[in-house]
Amino acid sequence: MRLRLTAAVAVGKILIKLLRLVRRSGTTLPGRVSLILQPALIEKISDSVPNVRAAISGTNGKTTTAALLGSILQSAGMSTVRNISGANLLSGVATTLVEHADLSGRLTTDSLVIEVDEATMPLVTPRLRPELTIITNFFRDQLDRFGELDRTVSLVRESLAHASGRVCINVDDPLAAGLAREVSSSSQTVLFGLRPSVDGDEDDRGSSSPSDVQFCPDCGVRLHYLRNTYGHLGDYSCSNCGFEKPSLDVSGEIIGGGGAEGTGLRIRFEANLPAAGEAVEVFLRIPGTYNAYNALAAASGAAALGLDLDAIREGLESFAGVFGRMERVTLPDGELMLALVKNPVGFTEVLRTVAASEGPAVMLLAINDHLADGTDISWLWDVDFSRFADREEIQFIVSGLRAEDMAVRLKYAGVPLSNIRVQPDLQEAVGAALGLGGGEVPVFVLPTYTAMLGLRKSLVERGLVGRMWEG
Ligand SMILES: [Zn+2]
Repeated sequence: MRLRLTAAVAVGKILIKLLRLVRRSGTTLPGRVSLILQPALIEKISDSVPNVRAAISGTNGKTTTAALLGSILQSAGMSTVRNISGANLLSGVATTLVEHADLSGRLTTDSLVIEVDEATMPLVTPRLRPELTIITNFFRDQLDRFGELDRTVSLVRESLAHASGRVCINVDDPLAAGLAREVSSSSQTVLFGLRPSVDGDEDDRGSSSPSDVQFCPDCGVRLHYLRNTYGHLGDYSCSNCGFEKPSLDVSGEIIGGGGAEGTGLRIRFEANLPAAGEAVEVFLRIPGTYNAYNALAAASGAAALGLDLDAIREGLESFAGVFGRMERVTLPDGELMLALVKNPVGFTEVLRTVAASEGPAVMLLAINDHLADGTDISWLWDVDFSRFADREEIQFIVSGLRAEDMAVRLKYAGVPLSNIRVQPDLQEAVGAALGLGGGEVPVFVLPTYTAMLGLRKSLVERGLVGRMWEG
């Protein structure tokens, strides 16, 4: 039956080529067709990976965590295949495998790191049978105000009940911590989270972050927080039933930085791991508390696989970001910082990072309301822009289909009207931002998903970035 696999891979590869010829992304259709030709495609191809099969899921941080883990594996001398963000449903995973397999259906790389949409976990994990699973967090996004999150969590729970291998869970998130107890007995859990930082700068975080899940997953009573890192992540306990943040196997401590330039992080391997009792200090070139969590997730996964600390440090420090997740883009006369915004918590976190850098700056906010962005843009009112009310040195350019709404939102947050320029056309807006900023003045670009795609196209057309962002 090898012939069937070969046929499925061949047809998939041809479709990928054809779609590229007509400049379509083609992350879904080839995999879907290949799966019809060989329904066991994912099992058969992923079986050929000699070393590591890893699955990464959760609301925020999947792509960056996968890229960081890939970087660590590379530092350990292992080649890796990853799926691109957005290709994280069953068909997207299949497309990735077809693209990288040879015609006999084998991958020639040492490892496979796959980010998986939370709701797709029960479909993907039995096929992929990962030795390593990482759960980042569960956030409500702008499309999800009606209990979808509970369903998502239960789908991930279902997949973990059949997991084998190691399962790394961010237990700073009470929802994820609730899952830790339900992981199948044939697998080993590695629990990670942040400790309070030495300089005690957490106070501002708890009060200014929007929290969306604060109720005990066991008894439904409101959780008590000793400390918030961001959103509903932090140190929590339930006074009613005793549910609390479990003790950590891997702990992180932020030891410096915090601005747009990056973050210092001390990672301690406490228990349940070959590296137990050891610690490593890294400087991440990607900013923000949320990226500290991503680094911690990748380090936990790598340590669970038994990779050595040098590879972990080198892999984390050499990583400069992935497209749209606060990526640094070097231009002829300066830099752009790009970060995709898709929900109130993530948007607020990015703003906090931007606000931490002093002096003048230009911010381009590009908001679309296509299906992939969320058609209901009222979530912008849950984003905390108030920290820019008295920052007269920061210029705003608002763009995209909902540029006017974004301008209104800024106005109500107290941003001076003279600092807000409305330019609905994305390409014009990029030109305006580069005109105001660049050089010594940093330019931050925060688009929703389809605005990000448009922006990428515009930068490629201007020859400012290569086509590497395609993947
Ligand atoms: Zn409780």
